[in-house]
Amino acid sequence: MTSLQEFRCEVCGTVTSNPAHWFVIQCGDWELTVLKWNAEAANAPEARHYCGEAHAQVYISRWFGSVCSPSKPDFTRASSAQ
Ligand SMILES: [Zn+2]
Repeated sequence: MTSLQEFRCEVCGTVTSNPAHWFVIQCGDWELTVLKWNAEAANAPEARHYCGEAHAQVYISRWFGSVCSPSKPDFTRASSAQ
């Protein structure tokens, strides 16, 4: 039995068991939510973890580029070509 959890930054791969200054991003089909680190948010199924502001911003920037959800249906483009 262990209460120690490790989290991995999705951008740089840093692993920590003490994510005091990390951020949680929850990304849904319609919204992206940035949260200060808390255990409940971090353990949510869709939660993503980032070691700091800079790497959270990397993900946000990608999300603006619509890479959050690969299966997201098209709204304005008929082409399915990548
Ligand atoms: Zn990082």
